[in-house]
Amino acid sequence: MILSNRAQKIKPSPTLAIDAKAKAMKAQGIDVVNFGVGEPDFDTPENIKEAAIKAIKEGFTKYTPVGGIDALKDAVIDKFKKDNGLDYTREEIIISCGAKHSLYNINQAILSPGDEVLIPSPYWVSYPDQALLNDAVPVFVKTYEKDSFMLRTESLKAHITPKTKLLILNSPSNPTGLTYDQKTLEGIAEIVLRNNMYIISDEIYEKLTYDGVKHISIASLGKEIKQRTIVVNGLSKSYAMTGWRIGYAAGPKDIIKAMTNIQSQSTSNPTSIAQKAAVEALRGPQDFIKTMLEEFDKRRKFLIDSLNKINGLSCLTPTGAFYAFPNTSALYGRYYNEKPINSSSDLAMYLLEEAKVALVHGAAFGDDNYVRLSYATSIDMIKKGVDRIAEAIQKLK
Ligand SMILES: *Cc1c(COP(=O)(O)O)cnc(C)c1O
Repeated sequence: MILSNRAQKIKPSPTLAIDAKAKAMKAQGIDVVNFGVGEPDFDTPENIKEAAIKAIKEGFTKYTPVGGIDALKDAVIDKFKKDNGLDYTREEIIISCGAKHSLYNINQAILSPGDEVLIPSPYWVSYPDQALLNDAVPVFVKTYEKDSFMLRTESLKAHITPKTKLLILNSPSNPTGLTYDQKTLEGIAEIVLRNNMYIISDEIYEKLTYDGVKHISIASLGKEIKQRTIVVNGLSKSYAMTGWRIGYAAGPKDIIKAMTNIQSQSTSNPTSIAQKAAVEALRGPQDFIKTMLEEFDKRRKFLIDSLNKINGLSCLTPTGAFYAFPNTSALYGRYYNEKPINSSSDLAMYLLEEAKVALVHGAAFGDDNYVRLSYATSIDMIKKGVDRIAEAIQKLK
């Protein structure tokens, strides 16, 4: 076999795969309602696009410093100060080609073969595979719907071994749409400090919270925990900039330096033009986020309400991001034309084929009792989609 052991251990991102399948069906003329998407359906704001065009016209089209231009690092530093009360210097910041790239580089920088990475489940699809790519071992720690999918401190403690190096937190969460409260974060921070571990805190959905919930970064809970946390964030979700590929990380100097070295031997700098656009996104008017959030909020209320009206589904009300994560386990054991529905994949496949509705099976996120629906699509599409789901579920015997 020509492929490395590493390459053979990982799979393509299942969420991107489902989105691709739905888009392919659409291209064939099939009327698919796509709840699979993991990106805002809004266009990047005009002022951000203009900043990129200006950068091109001014010839800002060459290599930049590997870890990002100072103007963008400074904008990120100011963001952390303003939004999270966190103080960082330029040496504690790196700009990468998306938050996913920052996450990858952290894994590369701190994991050695055999190191264990604690991943609360359900989890975002890339965390385990990125650990595997570094010959580390993903260790899943189950979280429960009745705890709003927050990690229990007893469960965390029970999974720590001498090989545990890292815990990955994601709040607001993809796929659950839920957010951590301060008390739970304090409990987690204490255990992390006592066990000399590190935390990656993926805060990409920070700006997308509802019902007055305020995002809390675990790094902001004290000096010691800040030294043990690498915060990851980016522009993709808050500014509808998924295609621009700008993310960033903040953390201890030595880790950021190692990440920068890794970046210098792989991608080099993130795109010069996108960096200029990102400065404008962070420094320019912020009213776009409010407008997008108001729209997401309307859809969220409508979708959760509609899902909970369907017999066999129950869904917590998400407090962040743009996902609903209904419990589908009551449907398992039912049949459609002699074909059993016994898992989240059976259900997702049934809904795609029979109802022309694309959503992601929960097993992709480590929990087979759920499916994920993204509401980054119009309210009309959501309405059409839930009607189809209701009808299809009614047909199950
Ligand atoms: C979308 C997403 C990312 C990656 O964002 P990019 O900046 O586009 O790479 C990271 N983490 C989570 C949880 C996400 O949903």
